[in-house]
Amino acid sequence: MDRRNFLRVSAMAGTVLAYGTAACGAATADRRTLSTGATGSAGASAAEWRALGRGLDGRLIRPGDASYDPARRLFNTAYDSVRPAGIAYCATAADVAECVAFARRFGVPVTSRSGGHSYAGWSTSRNGLVIDVSPMSRVSYSGGHATIGAGARLVDVYASLAAHGVSIPAGSCPTVGIAGLTLGGGLGVVSRKYGLTCDVLESVRIVTADGRTLTCSATSNPDLFWASRGGGGGNFGVATSFTFRTHAIRDVTLFFLHWPWSKAAAVLRAWQAWAPYAPDELWSNLHLGHDPSPDVMVGGLYVGGKAGCERLLRRLVDRVGAGPSSRYVARSPYDHAMMVMAGCADLSVAQCHRPGSLPGETSKGRLVRDAFTAKSHIAYAPLSATGIRTLIRQVGTAGRHSVLLDALGGAIGRVRPDATAFPHRRALFTVQYYAHRTGAAAWARAAHAAMRPHFGDHAYVNYIDPELTGWRRQYYGANAARLARVKAAYDPGRLFRLPQGV
Ligand SMILES: Cc1cc2nc3c(=O)[nH]c(=O)nc-3n(C[C@H](O)[C@H](O)[C@H](O)COP(=O)(O)OP(=O)(O)OC[C@H]3O[C@@H](n4cnc5c(N)ncnc54)[C@H](O)[C@@H]3O)c2cc1C
Repeated sequence: MDRRNFLRVSAMAGTVLAYGTAACGAATADRRTLSTGATGSAGASAAEWRALGRGLDGRLIRPGDASYDPARRLFNTAYDSVRPAGIAYCATAADVAECVAFARRFGVPVTSRSGGHSYAGWSTSRNGLVIDVSPMSRVSYSGGHATIGAGARLVDVYASLAAHGVSIPAGSCPTVGIAGLTLGGGLGVVSRKYGLTCDVLESVRIVTADGRTLTCSATSNPDLFWASRGGGGGNFGVATSFTFRTHAIRDVTLFFLHWPWSKAAAVLRAWQAWAPYAPDELWSNLHLGHDPSPDVMVGGLYVGGKAGCERLLRRLVDRVGAGPSSRYVARSPYDHAMMVMAGCADLSVAQCHRPGSLPGETSKGRLVRDAFTAKSHIAYAPLSATGIRTLIRQVGTAGRHSVLLDALGGAIGRVRPDATAFPHRRALFTVQYYAHRTGAAAWARAAHAAMRPHFGDHAYVNYIDPELTGWRRQYYGANAARLARVKAAYDPGRLFRLPQGV
């Protein structure tokens, strides 16, 4: 779940804190966290690159082109020094197949890119070819099913589907791409009610290493379909479109409650006994921040009216044993609520993009890019009193950082751990250590290490972390072996490579 920026939006009488990226400020990243995806030198001549460009319906951008610098950037400014040999904006699956054939023929490292939000920067490539799917961003809807191009950004998905009175459960960051999110799982603010993004996936079209375009569903290439629901982006081929089951949208209730920092331990103790076990309609997040002073907040969304939400919030407050120092609870149309969660409450959909750095993004975009370091855990059991004290101590250290706990459970937990590649169905909540500015990586590392004895070793592949040593088990648990078999079947030559490739 989108964590990092508890953007202050003014609404009603108080200050409301919402999730989103509008407040993402560029800052210095710790260079030790830098790591890129495919590396190596491109084995094709300039003439062969030109021929690739001529063969595409989309556009190939090369070093020296005027748009090369904006085209090579990801969301995280920490990867701005990475210089791919080419960025192919693919307009069709046939374009993708051309690029895949080119990479195979000339031994050029290849990586795919949708929204460009990979924490590790693994959707760019030193000297390789980036297959960017952002021109394939169409969203269409018919009879309870949405077909979404692999390059669509979440804000456009929500806006297009809202016009039909429907939605899908997905993340709250407006500029995250549907491809990376879905392939890794996809946690969102209505996931306890409707499931992960990958849980409502009905089929996906994928260009595989041999250049075929496969439709994958429960009945067609079912193994690849299984792997595409939580196995992680960049492993099995290049997805070009997704078809999802939609749900009708209803008004929701948004809430944000603040307590003084002195109550942080009590709030954490109460939240972990409340949030993962709440009715499916309620999703919430606990934010322990230090920016610049310590702060504790519970925010979230209830699929239903204000009275029902207030009843559930009362249970939390009773557990804390002290009322919040400020609160905001208000009913909202679903599409507005998603804009608040995205940090776009005061922006139009068009403005809720990054300004024109990619062809798919409007020049009216207002959201800035970000430099951050993040590490994470997945909690399978509540924190003990010692664990709570340790976490509060980590947040209290000097610096600008946050710990974000996002509730799991509900519909997410009713799926068997081996039914999709996302294994963490029995977990209670995700935990992210998120920091900006100088020293960010050192703080995140220290906080992660301090909490490891308390949370154990489980991780979410969409919060990909190049520093994990036991990543295979941590991301995939008992599903790792089956993922390796799917990889061997569909990409035996390992054309699609990641430092943490299955
Ligand atoms: C600001 C921010 C907010 C976030 N909020 C949430 C959230 O609310 N919920 C949540 O679950 N996660 C969230 N995440 C994590 C996010 O889901 C992952 O970072 C995800 O991988 C990003 O997808 P992307 O397409 O934007 O990124 P990219 O960097 O483009 O891709 C991520 C990975 O997928 C691969 N990939 C991209 N396109 C394709 C394709 N077409 N076919 C195959 N592989 C592909 C890339 O090679 C890369 O390895 C957030 C991340 C950030 C930075």
